[in-house]
Amino acid sequence: MFKLSETHDEIRKTARKLADDLLAPLAAHHDREHLYPAEQVKALAKLGFMGIAVKEDEGGAGVDNLAYAIAMEEVSRGCASTGVVMSVNNSLYCDPVAKFATAEQKKTWLAPFASGARLGCFALSEPGNGSDAGAASCTASVVDDPKLGSCWELNGTKAWITNGCEANAALVFASTDKAAKHKGISAFLVAMPTPGLSLGKKEDKLGIRASSTCNLIFEGCRIPKGNLLGEAGAGFKIAMGTLDGGRIGIAAQALGIAQAALEASVAYSKERLAFGAPIEKLQAIQFKIADMALRLESARLLTWRAATLKDAGVKYTKEAAMAKLAASETATFVAHQAIQIFGGNGYVTEYPVERHYRDARITEIYEGTSEIQRLVIGTNVLKEIGG
Ligand SMILES: Cc1cc2nc3c(=O)[nH]c(=O)nc-3n(C[C@H](O)[C@H](O)[C@H](O)COP(=O)(O)OP(=O)(O)OC[C@H]3O[C@@H](n4cnc5c(N)ncnc54)[C@H](O)[C@@H]3O)c2cc1C
Repeated sequence: MFKLSETHDEIRKTARKLADDLLAPLAAHHDREHLYPAEQVKALAKLGFMGIAVKEDEGGAGVDNLAYAIAMEEVSRGCASTGVVMSVNNSLYCDPVAKFATAEQKKTWLAPFASGARLGCFALSEPGNGSDAGAASCTASVVDDPKLGSCWELNGTKAWITNGCEANAALVFASTDKAAKHKGISAFLVAMPTPGLSLGKKEDKLGIRASSTCNLIFEGCRIPKGNLLGEAGAGFKIAMGTLDGGRIGIAAQALGIAQAALEASVAYSKERLAFGAPIEKLQAIQFKIADMALRLESARLLTWRAATLKDAGVKYTKEAAMAKLAASETATFVAHQAIQIFGGNGYVTEYPVERHYRDARITEIYEGTSEIQRLVIGTNVLKEIGG
């Protein structure tokens, strides 16, 4: 846990170089113009970063979840928007497909996505429910179609879908049995585009503005019977298990944003003069740097622990929630302190820390808000200690 293996160290160096050479130089431009970082995502695919933990014979890089967390941090240190594109493809799309798809389904729905030739998205949230995902109002019912024969028909709207504008497939959660509530939710693989599926407007966001977020609107959208992922009624379990892994990715994204803000703050504090000396000589600045580094390194250990537990095949729900909660609140804290260290320069787009501040904020919201992480941690601790 305290020293990375040679493989993990190599992955870290490779990802850091990519971030320095290709991601960071264009991050502000992509953010300002709301531009999808297409070339950057292609470069990630070349390195095997779009399906890091997926087996090699299934199209992935065949490494592990610790490698994924390490690469995610470095990529997000360069550009947090590129980080979330990578995160959704790896942990919210490829991971559940690798776990639940049949060998036949994997040929179409996994290999091209894990290699990065195609891009996936994950559609769980709805306009009326996010945290309460079990209340899904989207429906899937069996109908007869002249071309498809007996097939599924999807109706309803999924909200806030990251990668929605660029994705080639969506993992969609819809109710096949309303009376069974969350136990009636099933998971479906939907090609994009498909007749009956349209995209809502691209959201104008506070941060991670280079990644797209939009609604997926299903109106009589018919898909083959064979596009059901796992058993009918297993969708909620698939979604919750997927989010456990996703939280490691978002924790790593938050670490990358925090690391970038810390590095920028240290460099600035060495250059900026006040009262005849660099501000790094002021104890007030040193104390801020100390608190930033302390929280960052603590959150990194929690994140690596959660990834290592996932790799070991043991339960890691609580540990992933702890990592995500610690890292996301650290990212917000560190970016906030960074702006303070930059003074007025922290508040303008000429310097990167205002972007880090905007990018950090989402990590406390998606894949379970901080309140939901506390709920997960609290109920698990009460069970562990109280029996
Ligand atoms: C940029 C962006 C990208 C996203 N990407 C995706 C994606 O790719 N796929 C996808 O499916 N979703 C995505 N989401 C949706 C995201 O996961 C939800 O926004 C999030 O889960 C919160 O749900 P909500 O917005 O409906 O808030 P609500 O659930 O309405 O919550 C509102 C407030 O109430 C609190 N709250 C709710 N329930 C409880 C509780 N039981 N205890 C304590 N507090 C509670 C919340 O913490 C929050 O503070 C994305 C969202 C954004 C903004």
